[in-house]
Amino acid sequence: MPEIFSGERNPDNVRYLGRQLAALEGTQAAYPTSSGMAAITATIMQLCNSGDHIVASSTVYGGTFALLKSFLPLKCGIQTTFVDISDLAAVEAAITSRTKVVYTEAISNPTLAVANLPALADIAHIKGMKLVVDNTFSPMMISPARWGADLVIHSLTKFVSGASDVIAGVVCGDAEFIRSLVDLQVGPIMLMGPTMDAKVASELSLRLAHLGIRMAEHSRRAAAYAERLAQMGAKVTYPGLHGHKQHDLLNKLRNADYGYGGMLTIDFGSQQAAEHFMEYAQNVCGFGLMAVSLGYFDTLLSLSGSTTSSELSSAEKALAGIPSGLVRLSVGITGTLEQRWLQLKQSYLAATSSASIKQPLVPVTEIAEELQAQKVVNIIASQPVAQEPLCKQPRVEGMASR
Ligand SMILES: *Cc1c(COP(=O)(O)O)cnc(C)c1O
Repeated sequence: MPEIFSGERNPDNVRYLGRQLAALEGTQAAYPTSSGMAAITATIMQLCNSGDHIVASSTVYGGTFALLKSFLPLKCGIQTTFVDISDLAAVEAAITSRTKVVYTEAISNPTLAVANLPALADIAHIKGMKLVVDNTFSPMMISPARWGADLVIHSLTKFVSGASDVIAGVVCGDAEFIRSLVDLQVGPIMLMGPTMDAKVASELSLRLAHLGIRMAEHSRRAAAYAERLAQMGAKVTYPGLHGHKQHDLLNKLRNADYGYGGMLTIDFGSQQAAEHFMEYAQNVCGFGLMAVSLGYFDTLLSLSGSTTSSELSSAEKALAGIPSGLVRLSVGITGTLEQRWLQLKQSYLAATSSASIKQPLVPVTEIAEELQAQKVVNIIASQPVAQEPLCKQPRVEGMASR
């Protein structure tokens, strides 16, 4: 029987995806939404009333930051105090009698700090608050509910989709809360209209089967590049590196077999050098695409300070640790690891050698020869490994949300 109102009685596809995602996160239930922001907004609106208070990480996704900092106080009278979420004393100190929620990302954007989920859950639960965790950067890798998170949110637009072709989100939690989201009188998902389209749900269901394989490969590539870049003296941040502040914590929290994630950052010291790197990578070496999304099958490059974190003021960026030369890489899984490494290495060298600004260090044909010598097949069919630049891909504009 066709469903006539997908808000009230979800089509089977959406319900089925919800069950799959609940199983993925180990929660009783889950409710898919039309976007990650919709999932975040609905969750907060359900947990907080006018006058309530939130303690949130200062390094959340820019849209979440603007929602908490500007929109919710103005429209709903819900205030947020931002803290360094790794500073547990600061988290406790920020709690007031009206605090209902501790909000964090499992791995933060773009700083790649790992949240101490069990400790945050303890702090929240002692005071009867809920711990809400955005797990967009680490599906499969981290299961926040195992460590005490009450609600786990994803933007499915990213790794779960894997193709930057759909926009979707989900709220995972206990059955009672999930049911309350669609309450006929006061349920934000019921009343504000962020329900998921049934066609999107059926597409995403089919992609969950290989999410684990994809995550493991994103992580394997990112780890290799992070280690090699670090050896070359790059200012690289990756939670899989021993020197990363929360490396040991992540080892405790993460599920085996999925590595340390597909995201890494490189600080080029200046916006100019960062832009040069991205242009060289995309337009000369064929390494990645400049786009603000993440979790795509190809590498995506973005300048965090002026894209996904542009909602933050200069002072807020400084506080959150987002320098203007910071490039975020969502490491892709196309081609071979070694072929992609050659492209990345060339791009890095070009950007960091001041003499070579706008000039390839090594003629592109030599890179091509090196690739050929290694018998690496260029996977981009339209770009044979030859005299031409390895890859001149068009910029992808408007292809994806961030
Ligand atoms: C992209 C993103 C969101 C927002 O998701 P949309 O699906 O684009 O609405 C929320 N949190 C994080 C960490 C994200 O990367």
